Amino acid sequence: MALLFAILLQAQAAAPAPSPAPSAPPSTPPPEAACLLAAYPDQLCEATATHLVWCDGTRMPWRSRPRPLKPLEARLDQADLADQLAVRYPVGRAHPVPPREDPGRMRHQPFFEKMYGANAKAVSKTLAEVVWLPGIADVKLKVTTVNGVDRKLAAVSAALARLPSKQRIFVEKPSGTFVWRQIKGTKRLSMHSFAVAIDVGVAFSDYWKWVRPDADGRYPYRNRFPYEVVEVFERHGFIWGGKWLHFDTMHFEYRPELLVAPCATGATAAERNPR
Ligand SMILES: [Zn+2]
Repeated sequence: MALLFAILLQAQAAAPAPSPAPSAPPSTPPPEAACLLAAYPDQLCEATATHLVWCDGTRMPWRSRPRPLKPLEARLDQADLADQLAVRYPVGRAHPVPPREDPGRMRHQPFFEKMYGANAKAVSKTLAEVVWLPGIADVKLKVTTVNGVDRKLAAVSAALARLPSKQRIFVEKPSGTFVWRQIKGTKRLSMHSFAVAIDVGVAFSDYWKWVRPDADGRYPYRNRFPYEVVEVFERHGFIWGGKWLHFDTMHFEYRPELLVAPCATGATAAERNPR
């Protein structure tokens, strides 16, 4: 089946594509719309060629600014929905090392503000407590109940607790979930603001800002986290900052839209865990 699909894709690629006039508006939703609708079925109800439609009727445009926009920091600051889904997230162990892109790091902030709350007070009203690694770490963490993130993080915790201690040791010390704050040096909100992110194992972690760039301006990639840990998080809807060019290996955030096709590459969570 996969082979057939690959052949079909090649055939499509080889066929001369009709080139629409540059100003022609799109007539169908972008393929990535399916990822969002599948990941957030309680909140997102429809996708049109130009907008994502929330179940309360709110319409959010895929594109909210002209392309292209450079440099990277400007794109990060002004990312729209299309940017948010433009880079495929590599699920599982088969990802480029060192990473070449930042899948998931580009975020359309209004999307997350609407989903989880637009200020600290609004997010605070959604929080629940999750006991991290009961009987092992016993740390109380606050995460949102929106989209069942609290239940999903509890499931992550239960699965991590079953790992051998040489892998589990990486996650026994969490260092933060909910903090309403901007990413240092930027005006963008950290995903910790929305109570959907967790940092674990600072003592074992690596971060692009902690290393000196090489002569080409690239940050030498480092990671000490075992993939067994990463796979547990991904199975429950969390992506890992260790797969970013601007790596942050202690950081995991709930982004289920990047774990389903066509927004994911590799074996997606659904394929690895058929129901
Ligand atoms: Zn973090």
